[in-house]
Amino acid sequence: MDLLTASGIEAGPPPVRRVRVLLPLPLASAYDYRVPDDMDLEAGAYVEVPLGPRQVFGVVWAVDGDEAGVPANRLKSVLRRFDLPPMPEVSRRFIDWVAAYTLSSPGSVLRMAVSVSAALEDPKALLAYLPSGDSPPPGFKMTDARRRVLALMEEEGPPRTPADLAREAACGIGVIRGLAESGLLTPVALRAQPRPPIPDAHRPGPTLSPDQAAAADALRAAVDARGYSATLVDGVTGSGKTEVYFEAIAACLRQGRQALVLLPEIALSSQWLDRFARRFGVRPVEWHSDLAGAHRRAAWRAIVNGEAPVVVGARSALFLPYPDLGLIVVDEEHEAAFKQEDGVIYHARDMAVARGFLGGIPVALVSATPSLETLTNAETGRYGRIDLPARHGGASLPDVTLIDLRRPDSRPPARHWLSPILVDAMKETLAAGEQGMLFLNRRGYAPLTLCRSCGFRLQCPNCTAWLVEHRLSRRLQCHHCGYTDRLPETCPSCEAEHSFVACGPGVERVAEEVAQLFPDARVALMTSDTLVGPQAIQTVIEEVRAHKVDLLIGTQVMAKGHHFPMLTLVGVVDGDLGLGGGDLRAAERTFQMLHQVAGRAGRESRPGRVFLQTHMPEHPVMQALAAHDRDAFLAAEADQRRAMDLPPYGRLAALIVSGEDERQVDKLARDLARVAPQGDDVLVLGPAPAPLALLRGRHRRRLLLKTARGVAVQPLLQSWLASIPIPGTVRVQVDVDPYSF
Ligand code: ADP
Ligand code: ZN
Repeated sequence: MDLLTASGIEAGPPPVRRVRVLLPLPLASAYDYRVPDDMDLEAGAYVEVPLGPRQVFGVVWAVDGDEAGVPANRLKSVLRRFDLPPMPEVSRRFIDWVAAYTLSSPGSVLRMAVSVSAALEDPKALLAYLPSGDSPPPGFKMTDARRRVLALMEEEGPPRTPADLAREAACGIGVIRGLAESGLLTPVALRAQPRPPIPDAHRPGPTLSPDQAAAADALRAAVDARGYSATLVDGVTGSGKTEVYFEAIAACLRQGRQALVLLPEIALSSQWLDRFARRFGVRPVEWHSDLAGAHRRAAWRAIVNGEAPVVVGARSALFLPYPDLGLIVVDEEHEAAFKQEDGVIYHARDMAVARGFLGGIPVALVSATPSLETLTNAETGRYGRIDLPARHGGASLPDVTLIDLRRPDSRPPARHWLSPILVDAMKETLAAGEQGMLFLNRRGYAPLTLCRSCGFRLQCPNCTAWLVEHRLSRRLQCHHCGYTDRLPETCPSCEAEHSFVACGPGVERVAEEVAQLFPDARVALMTSDTLVGPQAIQTVIEEVRAHKVDLLIGTQVMAKGHHFPMLTLVGVVDGDLGLGGGDLRAAERTFQMLHQVAGRAGRESRPGRVFLQTHMPEHPVMQALAAHDRDAFLAAEADQRRAMDLPPYGRLAALIVSGEDERQVDKLARDLARVAPQGDDVLVLGPAPAPLALLRGRHRRRLLLKTARGVAVQPLLQSWLASIPIPGTVRVQVDVDPYSF
């Protein structure tokens, strides 16, 4: 040490100020940077820093860097700080908590919170355009590209940057400049964007029934308590759960705090958005992965600046840095769509409860068929519980009939899929001028295509999966990796010609049968193949509501939350689908889905009927649906899980080992099994082929860690993974609380 400096006789240069900056990248830790003399940085500040040759966006994670780390003279400097409110402490703690819980890098979690990047305040991005409304100057030539841009600008939304416009209209940036020069577009500064409109918290909602009013009071009390709570809102479809939690949102708004509503599939939620607008006068701010460009930046900025009083979003909306969140609602809390299976693997419902706990705010978990996890938490008193026992307006629950496909008199004719009983019911429904719906959760024409002469099956080259024939698009498709191919004219195995036959039904095949049986009926097919994007879905929904459709046929995209007043008949083509395979949640998930589908029938004054085709009418799922006895099913399911120490009575975590080289994957999986954690309450199963043993060309093996409920699995997993070198060509993903197995 330099004696002079140490004694303070001659002060050296001022000490280097360091900050730790977390970058939204899958890096093991935050990096130290030097704070320039003319800059002040506090924890949470948004900054731009150099990383190798790049400049990246990041967040100051701590203001005391690691003095023992990179020497001061080798530190790179922060380049600039953005003019944004710093990320609140609770958001930063939440990100760290999620990273620790899921064993992900904090940077990967941060990426979900700041997925907008530094383009936020790029000077080039500051310029945006709105239509000027002027007429074209003399000599102006209207090209196709120009027309596309102008048509795009007719749509509502915040101003778009030139780059956004060019991308959305699929044209060059020169087209945009040309339009601006001819005066048809007016430049505006993005910063001058209007704030999102404010929902009116004082608008009266509908007059609530006594049950609903009691439920609303309880939720409002939770909001007014301004502390952590988790509450299950349990009530049959149509009982008014949405109206009830709207009251809680109103209470949160009156406090001047933000409310977040998570929906499982935001693309299917236009009816929800309309209802919100009717209740509060304006639409909420939306956040989901389809939101791009200027819309995304505008939404992010509004949220971060506290100018978005209500945000509705898919699971990723949970990670946004809300400055003053006062309520989280997780609607359809049981939905599998809340589980993210790539990158950071997490369950948004569970993380929402953690966010509520860290932030000291109430969380409402809403469902007509709550998950066993949430029900158990409600039973043990960890969560509160609010029940809404009856459908609003006295609409009765539909009558459910099980059709036993094993009985000769109810079996459909050969190569047909609809039982005569169901067909008769469809005739009656159409004769009464009502609507019917057929549900089959299987896209395409047939699940399996095989060669009639040798039995050869068409399989995906990249996945352990059969190729599915789609007649509408005349392609074979893999539903896991998107691989497509033509149906071969000759069998690759026996060379027979035109020998391939379809086995079993997909929705397209059911639609074919319906067209034969009811040539005069107006039929709509609703599957993700025929409906690309929310607009297409909305169009069909409106047609059904306007009674321009008699029979609706579809997969689960059709089952979600839609309210069709004239729909009185629901036919489930194959109720057993999903029960096979021995998955942990197979029965629970099938029950939830069929319950939701059945709930589409008879939502208003006309009573509904449900016909459920099954080979297993004695199965607890079918019995519960027929008897409207959810609790009996749940009790049986709970007993089974308890007996096997499965969640929610035990814990699970999975390691998925994957790579292109099967031998390497196998070896690592076996090596991991050899060094697996041991203990009284700990059991490791596997390695076994993962549910898709080959996926997108990667071989996959799985190890399952099974522990008693109270065991913290993260330290076990951490030391397990650290005990063995993992080659760079093999990936090990950690799935804490796997949804299925
Ligand atoms: P859930 O969310 O439980 O399925 P909803 O809140 O969607 O139930 O209510 C079902 C239907 O009944 C909706 O159209 C809703 O507007 C209507 N509804 C519910 N409660 C009331 C009420 N108190 N007054 C008027 N309409 C209501
Ligand atoms: Zn595939």
